[in-house]
Amino acid sequence: MKKIFLMMMTTGALCAGCCDKERERAEFDYNVEKFADLGVLRYQVTDWDSLSAQQKAYIYCLQEAALYGRDILFDQNNRYNLAIRRTLEAIYANYKGDTATDDYKAFEVYTKRVWFSNGIHHHYGEEKFLPEFSEQFFTNAVCDINPALLPTRSGQSVDDFLAEILPVMFDPGVMTKKVNQDPNVDVIVASANNYYGDGVTEKEVEAYYNALKNPKDLSPVAYGLNSRLVKKDGKLVEEVYKVGGLYSAALEKVVYWLNEAQKYAENEAQKRATAALIAFYNTGSLKTYDEYAIAWVQDTESLVDYVNGFTESYGDALGIKASWEAMVNFKDIRLTKSVKILSENAQWFEDHSPVAQQFKKEKVKGISAKAITAAILGGDCFPTTPIGINLPNSNWIRKEYGSKSVTVTNITDAYDKAAAGSGFADEFVCCPKEKELMREYGSVTDNLHTSMHECLGHASGQLLPGVDPDALKIYGSTWEESRADLFALYYIADPKVVELGLLPNQDAYKAEYYKYMMNGLMTQLSRIEEGKSIEEAHMRNRALIAHWALEHGKAENVVELAQENGKTVVVIHDYTKLRDLFGQLLAEVQRVKSTGDFKAAQNLVETYAVKVDPTLHAEVLARYKKLNIAPYKGFVNPVYEAVKDKDGNITDVKVSYTEGYAEQHLRYSKDYSDLPTYND
Ligand code: ZN
Repeated sequence: MKKIFLMMMTTGALCAGCCDKERERAEFDYNVEKFADLGVLRYQVTDWDSLSAQQKAYIYCLQEAALYGRDILFDQNNRYNLAIRRTLEAIYANYKGDTATDDYKAFEVYTKRVWFSNGIHHHYGEEKFLPEFSEQFFTNAVCDINPALLPTRSGQSVDDFLAEILPVMFDPGVMTKKVNQDPNVDVIVASANNYYGDGVTEKEVEAYYNALKNPKDLSPVAYGLNSRLVKKDGKLVEEVYKVGGLYSAALEKVVYWLNEAQKYAENEAQKRATAALIAFYNTGSLKTYDEYAIAWVQDTESLVDYVNGFTESYGDALGIKASWEAMVNFKDIRLTKSVKILSENAQWFEDHSPVAQQFKKEKVKGISAKAITAAILGGDCFPTTPIGINLPNSNWIRKEYGSKSVTVTNITDAYDKAAAGSGFADEFVCCPKEKELMREYGSVTDNLHTSMHECLGHASGQLLPGVDPDALKIYGSTWEESRADLFALYYIADPKVVELGLLPNQDAYKAEYYKYMMNGLMTQLSRIEEGKSIEEAHMRNRALIAHWALEHGKAENVVELAQENGKTVVVIHDYTKLRDLFGQLLAEVQRVKSTGDFKAAQNLVETYAVKVDPTLHAEVLARYKKLNIAPYKGFVNPVYEAVKDKDGNITDVKVSYTEGYAEQHLRYSKDYSDLPTYND
């Protein structure tokens, strides 16, 4: 629940002190390709050459471990994803027909979308996207290739295979949503993800996991995190993700490369954490997982670090099951400095927040914050990826051992560079003053907001004794993101931030305020299809904050949705009062979280964060279309090549940036694809 994604197109302004890097990168091509509503970018692994041979070898092994989990995520997202992806890839590689037809072009787009979304459902909107080629075209293409190349079940005829997968691909009524959050339906039955077996209901899941929880346990494991819950002979049983269990073939490879990485580890702390992770994959024990999380959070000195595991639970409507993800990274020494200042002052921020005393942490412990350079993205961090991460997710571990918080600077950088010159600011930003502020301070406030969200926001506040951390249920993720965002919004305008040297003056924060309101009220609607409402937790959180502030500032005309030359624009009349409103909402959001006030959370989210004004929505979509900007972005990874001596030791690693999007996915599906097609 602790991930932050890119908020919107940034203006392309450069942060201070980046000019050298700038010249260095002038030749780098950040934009790879565009299809449907998706844009593929490339990121650069800044300062790769500053690493030692040992560090490079370490990263090499870890990135292999990061790539081997890709199939797991496909299968978690939907049990037909691997069958469909492998069929598409078989056609892609063996198609003998005319590639200039509309059907074939639509086939290519669909295949690229399946790679991008790690399955047949939109990675962000969660709804199934339908092929724009005909069922007949697909059937012919399948029948034209050698049946041995198709991922049929054993003994299954091609006809039976088609009968099984055609409705999954083409019928809009089948497996419609990956995650369904509609409070009026059974969210487990109505979700097409693969975390629960056939016939398992929401009530049964809640009863099953509630029975495992002991309210007196002060260090509870994350029950259900690494398993699929299925019904066997009428009884619920967990199929655990582990070596020898579910997803074994992929996890064996992950474990192999984690073991290889141990040869090149920088220090004992790193080795200890990796050893615990390996033990977790081998046993599936959630106690061991917590031991790993503690060892990992205690390793703050290493230059290289990584995430590899079943981590975030956005993909499960009840937030119990975690998707597999990976990111390997190393410290961005230059930018870590400013993040460090925040973390050193964490207690001051906690003490001075507008939150009621009993909901504050007396001691904000061990917030370790840094800026990092991503070296590889895998699983649920690929191709779309967060720009900030705060882990581990376990509440008691965070309280006792702290958490690690990072902002991923080379990814933010790639977004900025790719967006420069898109015309976005000219189209949507209302006034010359705001345009100027965003050009000047857009990048620096964006990074600062992310850092504050991660290293102060998520770390702040406490639950009252006995309050269930899952009390807000389906509103939990939205609520947690709102809390972190509000903390950052409230403080980015504080004079303390200028005093600490994090912003150059007392006006800069307005760039972030303007951008946030414009995004929450308007521009993020570009990511939603006409007629749909807001589903994703981060989008809901931004809508919640922006609409609440608009509504509660009405009497004093703090913010306004105005008309300018026939276009809707956000106008902020009073930045100081807007900050007060953020402070008021922060106090309420923390109260609700601390006391587990489900009704209040439900009321605010359903009132402000879900519904979309259809007229404004249509306007935003039309204006966006004119700009021809893809609303969602994802990445192509760099390619690493190891140089080995005669004993097989890695002596150097070369990085290159020339691999294309389709090329990369086809290679991953060939070289890193050990899972069976059917894991049921
Ligand atoms: Zn967050």
